[in-house]
Amino acid sequence: MPANGTPLRVFLTKPCGVCAGVRRAAETVERALAVYGPPVYVRHEIIHDRHVVDGLRARGAVFVDDLAEVPDGALVVFGAHGVAEDIEHDCERRGHDVVDATCPLVLKLHKEARRFAERAYDVVLIGRPGDDEVEGIASRIPGRVHVVSQVADVGRLEVADPARVACIMQTTLGGVDTQDIVAALKHRFPRLAAPDGDACSAVHDRQKAALRLARRVEAVFVVGTSSSTTTRRLTEIVAASGVPTRLVETAAAIDPAALDGLTTVGLAAGPSTPDALIEAVLARIKALRAVELDVLDGPEEHVRFRLPSRLRHAGERPQ
Ligand code: SF4
Repeated sequence: MPANGTPLRVFLTKPCGVCAGVRRAAETVERALAVYGPPVYVRHEIIHDRHVVDGLRARGAVFVDDLAEVPDGALVVFGAHGVAEDIEHDCERRGHDVVDATCPLVLKLHKEARRFAERAYDVVLIGRPGDDEVEGIASRIPGRVHVVSQVADVGRLEVADPARVACIMQTTLGGVDTQDIVAALKHRFPRLAAPDGDACSAVHDRQKAALRLARRVEAVFVVGTSSSTTTRRLTEIVAASGVPTRLVETAAAIDPAALDGLTTVGLAAGPSTPDALIEAVLARIKALRAVELDVLDGPEEHVRFRLPSRLRHAGERPQ
């Protein structure tokens, strides 16, 4: 068993942590607070991350599950994964000033879904029923959408024309979650259509990177909060690979015993984990052990989305 002075090799996945869409959503709320001042109402927790959400709340963001909690005419921010169309209409009716931080890649899916529906396709949406993103896509093509979340759902689908079926996937699912469903769909509908261009691979790339990491280390810490579906799922996927895996919500959760006997450890994080938390966990490990840090090879992410246009210029006021 290595003594605590023995260097611990810490491997970090690439990509790791917050994705471009979630980063933009959090920055949108920050910017709205700076430009308009508190309170800024935010529909649902903007990024499913307790640390970021608590920080924004302290600065005057008010997170609500229901628009009934928002005074008429107040400023409302929509999160990265969008909202159902009836929420948009409700906001119009109640005179809310809306800043839409829906990720451009989710908006692209809205467009693709509409495009298929206009061409008389039945759209199979692989996703978790009830998630904002799923509701947001489904609401744009009423009567044309079938939400499936497991292979067994595929056999139960009833479509108008098996030659005109398209498949769209919720962006917060990775290939591990969707590949069997897609295979079943292709088997049942050989002419299955899919959106043009690349779908968002942020979740998928983080899952793949974490599984690569799991093959290299004695234990994996998945950094993030248990309130994030993608973080919980990432933890399950890594744990299922057989390596001891622990979800780490705070830097303080790492005690010396957690590192006892280890010579290698891996850090992975899903797309809603802020950089600051990953850095804090790493700093904690360095405080406990001498560390040699390595970043595993993986795809570089250069994409950065601009803030909603009305927030790009400081001092802008609501109309
Ligand atoms: Fe956008 Fe992809 Fe992040 Fe979803 S996972 S917010 S689609 S970048």
